[in-house]
Amino acid sequence: MRSFSYVSAPDVATAVRAIAAEPNAKFLGGGTNLVDLMREGIERPDTLVDISRLPLDEVEELPAGGVRIGAMVKNSQLAADPLIRHRYPVLSQAILNGASAQLRNMATVGGNLVQRTRCPYFYDSAAACNKREPGAGCDAVGGFHRGHGILGVSKACVATHPSDMCVALSILDAVVEVESVRGTRRIPLPEFHQLPGSTPHIETTLAADELITAVELPAAPVAVNSRYRKVRDRSSYAFALVSVAAALEVTDGEVTEVRLALGGVSAKPWRAHAAERVLLGAPATVDSFRLAAETELEPATGLPGNAFKITLAQRTIVATLTALLTDGSLA
Ligand code: SF4
Repeated sequence: MRSFSYVSAPDVATAVRAIAAEPNAKFLGGGTNLVDLMREGIERPDTLVDISRLPLDEVEELPAGGVRIGAMVKNSQLAADPLIRHRYPVLSQAILNGASAQLRNMATVGGNLVQRTRCPYFYDSAAACNKREPGAGCDAVGGFHRGHGILGVSKACVATHPSDMCVALSILDAVVEVESVRGTRRIPLPEFHQLPGSTPHIETTLAADELITAVELPAAPVAVNSRYRKVRDRSSYAFALVSVAAALEVTDGEVTEVRLALGGVSAKPWRAHAAERVLLGAPATVDSFRLAAETELEPATGLPGNAFKITLAQRTIVATLTALLTDGSLA
């Protein structure tokens, strides 16, 4: 690993000033993904601004019924928080489905939002990768792409976003708050992560000198009946082949509110708006769930090694909604 200078930031103002003063600086929080990338020579910061001591580690109830989550809240702390467990069980479940207990004890909410893809070619400096080196090509398309994307992909890149937490945040209409020397900015989650298009190296709308300080969740009564279902190649410490975050409200046999998102299928958490439109006002039946799933996956495109995900995603949507209908969120 090449040498770099190090700044330990005791507060947000110091952190944003330090990053603004150095053009090739990176924030170091929980640090696991950035350190991996530095070891491989993919990230080469000249300065690391250590934000691990910032006082952004609280989960607070908001006056209107929502929740404000500090960016330095550890994943394990958030999953165990009583407010989250009772009001947003899908978020608690998603976090507990990610990584290992040791990583969840280190990883932060802010870091989870900006973690990089786990496409193996991205981490292999001998491979062609448009995300690492724009214009180089993409070895995943003709190579091993079992875990890669089927929705919102492009010729330039078919990588997926690895987070489970972000899929749950997607159905909770999360807003990301960021800070820089220019002030505070609030970014709705759908605008935070970017699809690859012809610029897969641009993954978020976060500027290089902006620090994530919090994530806010508005009140969402429907989320009390919510769940996260993850399908993967082994039962722990594996990224999703497909995951589903869902919340459902049914009155007199009719869907009166529904929120649905997919993980493991795209470069961003994939909010399933088309499926939601099919379901709203429809009978709460397996047939409706199946039609919604087919509608959502209609534009999906698979490669030889990952086309199975199209059917898998449809079945996982139907299974998750069926479980919410019959068992409630606590099963
Ligand atoms: Fe790189 Fe994206 Fe291709 Fe993976 S899928 S090799 S990250 S361009």
